[in-house]
Amino acid sequence: MPPMLDVSDEVRAEIGDEEADRLLTGESAPGGYDCTSCRTPGDPRQERTSTVLFIGDETAVLAFAHATCLPSQVVKVTEEQLQGAVKSIAGDTADPEPQQAVLGVTSGLVLISGELHPALVVEPTAPIARPGTTTTGDDFLPLLVEQGFLPVPDLSAVPPVLHGWSVLLAMGQLHAVLQPSPSGGRPVAWWQAHHPLQVTDGWRAAAGKHQQVLMFAAPVGSIGRQPREDLLREALDRAAAGGRLVAAALPLAGT
Ligand SMILES: [Zn+2]
Repeated sequence: MPPMLDVSDEVRAEIGDEEADRLLTGESAPGGYDCTSCRTPGDPRQERTSTVLFIGDETAVLAFAHATCLPSQVVKVTEEQLQGAVKSIAGDTADPEPQQAVLGVTSGLVLISGELHPALVVEPTAPIARPGTTTTGDDFLPLLVEQGFLPVPDLSAVPPVLHGWSVLLAMGQLHAVLQPSPSGGRPVAWWQAHHPLQVTDGWRAAAGKHQQVLMFAAPVGSIGRQPREDLLREALDRAAAGGRLVAAALPLAGT
């Protein structure tokens, strides 16, 4: 039986028909892999698997993810991030260099106190080390708490507004999460979409109504890519209960 691999058109365009077909027939498909999104093992003979092509400035790396975690896609990264991704895909934990992580951002509506709020859920693809350190720990949540995000014990209340931060929506698409500039000038991008992220009409309507977006952040491995909003909510509840979730309400920038 051929492996259950998804090769999207954009991935096919990059790797070529020949390599795409070799993957699809199983000739060059992996026997097993660690999902590039949730980091748990996967097997393309047992479950649908997405090919994810990371493209740096000079090199590219083909990785695999559970189809429920990520759709097959091309992800453009810096050469530095790519080297980090290669290291983490290869499972090289002996290297003391901190990994460069990519931030995964998912949009969804979250029900709090009987009302739907537009939310962004941010989860890195690897542990985030404090800049300038070489520890292997994950400082993602402590770093955000230092910026004013608050730990969320449960999703019973809307988190407070974090002034200075904002979410940039333009033409109904999500472009960036902005944070205050360290030098006091214009806000700078904390996260910027490689391609503007399409949001649903419901999400856009809720964002327009509330004029703010709730941003939830969790360390790598906490949420995963959830295909449905009820599953996203369950994952958020689990992360909150486990003390692995911080949040803030960010005002909208743009329209
Ligand atoms: Zn996965």
